[in-house]
Amino acid sequence: LEGELEAIRGAGTWKSERVIASRQGPHLRLAGGGAGILNFCANNYLGLSSHPEVIRAAVEALEKFGAGLSSVRFICGTQSIHKDLEEKIAHFHQREDAILYASCFDANAGIFEALLTPEDAVLSDELNHASIIDGIRLCKANKYRYKHMDMQDLEAKLKEAQKHRLRLVATDGAFSMDGDIAPLREICQLAQKYDALVFIDECHATGFLGPSGRGTDELLGVMDKVTIINSTLGKALGGAAGGYTTGPKPLIDLLRQRSRPYLFSNSLPPAVVGCASKALDLLMESNAIAQSMAAKTQRFRSKMTAAGFTISGKDHPICPVMLGDARLASVMAEDMLNRGIYVIGFSYPVVPKGKARIRVQISAVHSDEDIDRCVEAFTEVGRKHGALP
Ligand code: PLP
Repeated sequence: LEGELEAIRGAGTWKSERVIASRQGPHLRLAGGGAGILNFCANNYLGLSSHPEVIRAAVEALEKFGAGLSSVRFICGTQSIHKDLEEKIAHFHQREDAILYASCFDANAGIFEALLTPEDAVLSDELNHASIIDGIRLCKANKYRYKHMDMQDLEAKLKEAQKHRLRLVATDGAFSMDGDIAPLREICQLAQKYDALVFIDECHATGFLGPSGRGTDELLGVMDKVTIINSTLGKALGGAAGGYTTGPKPLIDLLRQRSRPYLFSNSLPPAVVGCASKALDLLMESNAIAQSMAAKTQRFRSKMTAAGFTISGKDHPICPVMLGDARLASVMAEDMLNRGIYVIGFSYPVVPKGKARIRVQISAVHSDEDIDRCVEAFTEVGRKHGALP
């Protein structure tokens, strides 16, 4: 093991964890010092992780329903709040039903094996999230991997997959490393042409993409064409934990019978259910929070572009500042922290070689001043390290 650990360090891919001593939010205190750090690397897109009403809802659920169920759902682990939240999720996405999991990782791990047989086929974008890749590994269907968002390649693979009983196209709605959005309209057209179902992972879209924050399918006008949605409660929707599948009722019924991470893992704790449920209420009352996040994203993207940086993706709060060189990304991220701004550099193998970047994530609770301070720091640090002229 020591040798293996050394090899990871030697390869420069060691992931260290910074310890936060405050709540999640735009301003953090780090353990052992560092107060007032501006945080630009959480998936807290709507700033609900520490929203007072979300916290209150968690406390109330904890008081009323206890710390946890000490059980899986089908034994004695289903409370009224679990059923209410499932109904709320299905309503939010305008789908027939929904099923909760301990995480979206579990939802992705559980769906393909339960749904697909060796007679079926799954066609997966090559840059899909690790949990989709693992879920697909667990199933016995025939596997096709198409080039990232390449519709010609997807069509070729769909033609090849015609020999199978059922075809499922699986894609992230928004891809977390590049902030780019799957061409769902084209995917759904191809799916219709070649008689396939469409599955999307909406972890980086639920709550804020589309006119009322329903996600990528709403943004691209294909809510009635996407069959299955998996998403998380651990990012925009309160940020505690939990995941779900929403879609046709028979599919959800089947998952309750067959999906292993659902059948053999504890029910979501009531406090966590309370957080997500309140987050959804807040979103369904008004989309002002999502709009405020979109305006701040626009501010950051346009100011950074004007400063001379290249920001990947379009209109998404994931704003990867493309730098190319891995060392440059790492020293710049370090220097940003020296200036009180917490951002993370990503390099190979997390992203392709030569495409190192610092990933900035915008939240509705960043102020305009926070955004401007971040851009100013990037400009200084970029000039210092030669990323800007
Ligand atoms: N899918 C995508 C695209 C993600 O980014 C993540 C989280 O990183 C997951 C699934 C897993 O979500 P959870 O944290 O709920 O397990």
